Order: sequence, then C-alpha cells, then structure tokens
Amino acid sequence: MKDYDAHAIEQKWQSVWEAEQSFHVDNPAPGEPVDDEHFYMLEMLPYPSGSLHMGHVLNYTLGDVVTHFKRRHGYKVLRPMGFDSFGLPAENAAIKDGGHPLEITERNMEAIREQMRLMGWAIDWQREVSAHEPSYYRWTQWLFLKFFEHGLAYRKEAPVKWCPNDQTVLANEQVIDGRCERCDTPVEQRFLDQWFFRITNYTERLLENLPNLDWSSSTVLLQKNWIGRSEGAELIFETPSGKKITVFTTRPDTVFGATYLVLAPEHPLVDELTAVERRSAVKAYQREVQSKDIVSRRVGDKTKSGVFIGSYARNPATGEAIPIWIADYVLMEYGTGAIMAVPAHDKRDFEFATQFELPILQVVAVEGQTTLPTVSDGGVLMNSAPFDGMSCVEGGRKIVAWLAERGLATPRVQYRLHDWCISRQRYWGPPIPIIYCEKCGVVPVPEKDLPVELPLIEDFRPDDTGVSPLARHEEWYFVKCPQCGGQARRETDVSDTFLDSAWYHLRYPSTEFHDRPFDPARTKKWLPVSSYIGGNEHAVLHLLYSRFVCMVLADLGHLHFDTPYPRFRAHGLIVKDGAKMSKSRGNVVVPDAYIQQWGADTFRMYLMFLGPFQEGGDFRDSGIVGQRRFLEKVWALVHEAAGADVAGAPELQQKLHRTIRKVSADTEALQYNTAIAAMMEYVNELKHGAVSKALVEPLVIMLAPYAPHIAEELWSALGNATPVFAARWPAYDERLASAGDVEIAVQVNGKLRSRLTVPRGMAEKDVLDRVLADEAVKKFVDGQKVKKVIYVQDRLVNLVV
Ligand SMILES: [Zn+2]
Ligand SMILES: [Zn+2]
Repeated sequence: MKDYDAHAIEQKWQSVWEAEQSFHVDNPAPGEPVDDEHFYMLEMLPYPSGSLHMGHVLNYTLGDVVTHFKRRHGYKVLRPMGFDSFGLPAENAAIKDGGHPLEITERNMEAIREQMRLMGWAIDWQREVSAHEPSYYRWTQWLFLKFFEHGLAYRKEAPVKWCPNDQTVLANEQVIDGRCERCDTPVEQRFLDQWFFRITNYTERLLENLPNLDWSSSTVLLQKNWIGRSEGAELIFETPSGKKITVFTTRPDTVFGATYLVLAPEHPLVDELTAVERRSAVKAYQREVQSKDIVSRRVGDKTKSGVFIGSYARNPATGEAIPIWIADYVLMEYGTGAIMAVPAHDKRDFEFATQFELPILQVVAVEGQTTLPTVSDGGVLMNSAPFDGMSCVEGGRKIVAWLAERGLATPRVQYRLHDWCISRQRYWGPPIPIIYCEKCGVVPVPEKDLPVELPLIEDFRPDDTGVSPLARHEEWYFVKCPQCGGQARRETDVSDTFLDSAWYHLRYPSTEFHDRPFDPARTKKWLPVSSYIGGNEHAVLHLLYSRFVCMVLADLGHLHFDTPYPRFRAHGLIVKDGAKMSKSRGNVVVPDAYIQQWGADTFRMYLMFLGPFQEGGDFRDSGIVGQRRFLEKVWALVHEAAGADVAGAPELQQKLHRTIRKVSADTEALQYNTAIAAMMEYVNELKHGAVSKALVEPLVIMLAPYAPHIAEELWSALGNATPVFAARWPAYDERLASAGDVEIAVQVNGKLRSRLTVPRGMAEKDVLDRVLADEAVKKFVDGQKVKKVIYVQDRLVNLVV
C-alpha cells in the first residue's frame, strides 16, 4: 500500500474532473417536465477585490457538501459560480494597488478560480457570470429601464450620505452607526440629484412574506428590524400664528407629558418661527451643526446641544404652550424632522431637559419603579386627565381617537426603510441608461442600444466635486438624443453594485442567450433557487434588494415566482484560537497555506468539523491534525479491504447501518460536524484484519461530499470503474440501524413529558444532552435550573426543577 499523498491525489483528480467536465449539469431538454429532481444550489458570489478568505472557503465548502449529497441522491444539481466584479471594493483595490479596475479585477478572478480549483469544489464553470462583462450588465441596465418604465425608478435631489474617503454617495444601508460600511470613515451629508428605486412601495409585502421563508431565524430578524415597522401616530402642535408642526411618535399615550418640542436645525419652519431676539443664536447654531458629521450628531457625546428659538406651540392634549427648541440630535431625514419631548419617559429627552432645565412631568406610573425616566409601556397613565388609570396601550388608542376628532392626530405606521438610492458617482459600475436632452428632458436609452458600455478610461479616480469621472470624457458624455436627434448628454452615474447582485441568480441558467436576460423555459426549470448559503453580513442589503427586484419582475410578468431564495441558511463565523481574525492581530488564516500544508481534503474536513453550520467555530492548528489522522486511517483500512476482501465482523453491520442513518440525516440537516463525528466513531470500531469491502464502500461514498479527492481515489482502489460521483448514496436497513435501541421515558418533576429513542447502553451524559435538547422537555424546564437528575439506565430520566 502506498502512503496517503494528499497533493498527488488532489492534483490527479482535479485534472480528471476538469478534463471530463464532471461538474457540468446539462439543462433539462425542452419539454422535459419540471420535477423535484432539479436542484439549484447557490452560494453568494465573491467580490474579486482580493483572493478568497476563510469566510469564502467556509461558504463554498458548505455548498459543496450540499451539491455532492444531492447528486448522490439522483438530483441534477446546478451549482454555478460568478464574480460580483463591479463596485467599490474592486475599484478601491485598483486605486490602492495603482492599476486599472478591469485589469485588477480580472487578475483577482483568475487567482480565485485557481483557489477554487485547488479546493476541489464541484462548480459548473460553463455558466460563469461576471457583473462587469457587457454581456451581463446590459441586462442590469435593462432592469433599470423596466423599473423606469413602470415608475419604480425616479430622480430627485436629496440629502445623501457622502463618504469623504471613498468620495461617493452611500446607500442608507451602507452606513453603519453613521460610518461608512466599507472604510469606517464618519459620513457627511450632501445634496445631489440621485436615482432611486421605489422599494418603499413594497415595504408591507417584504415584511409580510418573511414568515413564509425557510430562512435562518437570525436573518429574518435582521431583515425585519431593518424594515423597521413602528406603529404610532402623527400629532399636530399648533403655533399661535397658525403654523402646524407635525411630529411622529410611537408613544402617543405620553402626550400629556410633552413639555417641549425639538425640531431639526434644517426644519423648514425654523426661520419663520424664530423670534427676532433669538435669530443670531439660532443662525450660529445652524452653522455649527452644518459642519458636523452625522456620527457625532446621532451618537454624540453625553452633552446635548441645542437652542431655544423663542417661540411656542400648543400641546394638543393639555392646550398649554410649550417651548420650541432646535437640536442636532433630531435629523430632518427621519420621521417628520420634529419630535415631541417627553422627558419623564425618554432617556434622551430626560438628559436634554435636565441639562437645559426644562420641565419634566411624569405621566406613566410603572409599578416598582420610582426614578425617572421610565420608558416602559407596561404602566398606567397618570396626570393625563380623563385617561388616568388606563394602561398605556389602551390609553394611547383612546388619546389618538380623542385628538383625531379635533383633527390633531392621525394613526400612522412608520418604517425605517427608505427608497433605495442606486446612483454612484463612481466609475466601476454599469452606466445608468439615461440621456438628458434640453428639448425632450429625461430620455431612457432605447433597449436596442444596450449595453451603454463603460468606456475604458485611465483617469477613473473620483474627485471631491461629486461629478462622475465619466463626465470628464466628452466623446462618451455627449450623445444624440434618441427622440429628437439633437445634442444631448448621458447620465454619468453608475448603478449600485447591489443591483448587479440582486438578479445574478436569474442569469446562470441562461448564460448562452444574448437576446434576453433569462430564458423563460430555463427559468421555469431551475428557479427559484433551491438552497442559498451566505453570510449574515448581507442579511439586510443583498437579500432585501434581491427579494424586492424579484417581486417587481414577478409583478411585471417576467417571473413566475416572487421570492428568489425560499430557503436560505446563514453560515457562522470562524475565529482563530478564540479571537476574531484581523490583520492587526496577525491571526488571519490564509486558506492557501493550509491547502499547501495539509491538502484540500483535510482542510475541508476540519472546516466542516469545527462546529455547527450556523455557528461557525474556533480554528486551531492543533485541531486539524485529528482530521488528517482520520483520513490516513480510512486510507489504510480501505486499502486493506481492497487487497483482501475478508468477511467483516458481523456485529459491525449494525454499527454501519446506524452510521449511515446518522450521516444521512445530519448531512441533510446541514449538521456537518456531527455527521463527520459519526464517521469517525464508526472508523474507530473498524479493526485491522477484519474489514470487508461491504463495510468500507458505503463509508467512502459518505466521505465524498466532505473529502472528494481521497474518496475518488479510494473508490477506484476498491475496483470501481465509474467515479464515486456516479454512485448512489448508501441506503440503510432501518431494522438493523435501530436494533438495540431502547425507549426512555423522560419526566419533569415526576410527570411524563416525552419519550426518546437512544442506543442501548448510551452514557448518562449523552442521554442528558439529548433530553435537554428535546423541544417537549424544554417547554417544561423553561429555562429553570435543573436541581437534580434521576437516571435509570436504558429506562428513565427524571429532571427535578
Ligand atoms: Zn468609505
Ligand atoms: Zn431630444
């Protein structure tokens, strides 16, 4: 027997797979019925701004296991790959490395393809798509035209978030706590003409179909919070001159406690309402705020700033005149740009009122809480005249109805989600297909003229004028108006990279069609995506936009479904030796080095063994050795069985069937770590001198999704002429698999709550783990401490809580 030489084996099989196009899946023949046998496996595609990092490697290995597993079950699995090759990351990489984005993008793509080959991932490369290819982005532009045609794309001057470092406008979603998502620079506010997509037309629908999605619950929650639905009311505070100041509040029940109003310094009524003697103070404050970035305005420090504008408005509930202030913590772009301040029941208002000695009036009593502010809505109203003693919820409803009778309140639902700004004043993206003509106005580029090609220019760098680099190129910029033939000019903004990735899944099955973005018959066969995997960092951006675009295309009759990814699983994060990986810590795991040292199979096995799919795990160099030893052991045992096919020990039959059952169920459920553990446990029972082919062949098939190269090599060593990829997943005999199982009664405080089936003789600790994970038991333990465990082997567990 030869030693296990991972590198030689991996090289050999990678060449074979490439030569034989082993991972290409044919399109279903025309007229072939749509059936469950078609499976579309998709993982979020990489940005080629550098080489693959550990997040990618984890992502694609997880997807690879699904791909192999489904194929072994007879599915035709479409598993394509592409590159999100437009956008800021690639352009910034180019600026940093001093090259052209095109050249750097394509160089990185080449390197990534090579890394993917070395990992042995089962990718169908015949369907590759790249966002920066004109054959792709002409359809991204087509998408824009469809939105424009149907009133879902519009242009307006709007305050936008501006990253002074990237010198570009950012989408709301790209601003995290007032900082640029990409470079962490504090974001400023500017006013520019922008193109927007009307995602707010779809807010309710995006929210409503969340519960229908088979998604990681963490992702659903992130998306729900991002859409940010809050119920409340708009209340009107009138000024003596008859001006109406509208505020939105989620707590109309506290209106009796509103002791002052705060407007954003940019609020359009400020100038008019400012008293003469306060003008200079107000002007000075407005100037001061303008120079501030949004970070310090929103998070700010403990000290609040603001000025009284010298006038008053009437509290609609009490009728009392309350002072009007302006303060930087109120932003014009959220809500109505004005708030009612209820210092007794809002922390920020409380600090402000304390600092400026404004009145604080308690209107909610919360039992057991004596210090202000109390912000709970679980109390009862006080100091609220006819509503005293009512609960906050009931009182709120009644107060809104009472004020509404006098035209001073309107029930309102507010969302955090704003329209999607898709304009970017950058170079590396698809030009927005719009032409401006003095006679005809805004003219869409006719579909037949697509793509509007991005010209290859050398001075692609942005500058701080806010004008796109494309405007500096007159031969591209000036164009004939498609309607009147007169001199016109092109839109110089390019679209957001999130638009590129909002529809890429539609393109893969139809890459060879050049006269349509996606072929209806192909789309019917393959879509929607059967299984989608990616990181939760895209939970609110990419996944939300994809759903929105899909809904629009469905409404316009281009798609037969309105949810692109009905099943999505977010993978966890990998840390190194217990710490988050970062360049500054110097603990970044570079995949290539591990492939070099251990081979792809060992590396893949270790990654999948690290922890549960959705949790990630702690990568330790000492841990990877265990997987290598396991593969070596399998190598030796299989060769032994291949050399002399002796009859294996019969008692191992049962263990084998039990293992097949466990590995099948766990792999299906994406619980890869426990599937690998089950294989390791099985191999530990196999003894030299007593292994048969029948005992190891199923093992090799089960190993293949995890460690495909060694599995292929061992499969051929066992004398098989066809590849392991053509083998069916092993079946198990339920009778054999469950022989020796016992049923255990599970009691909580002496009452029977559940029954569990476990192998006879299972250790108490393992039984307890299973018991505590049981949903029926969890309900009765309900987070309480287990005080005592009574355990009767193979019979009963009683938890005393
Ligand atoms: Zn930035
Ligand atoms: Zn014209």
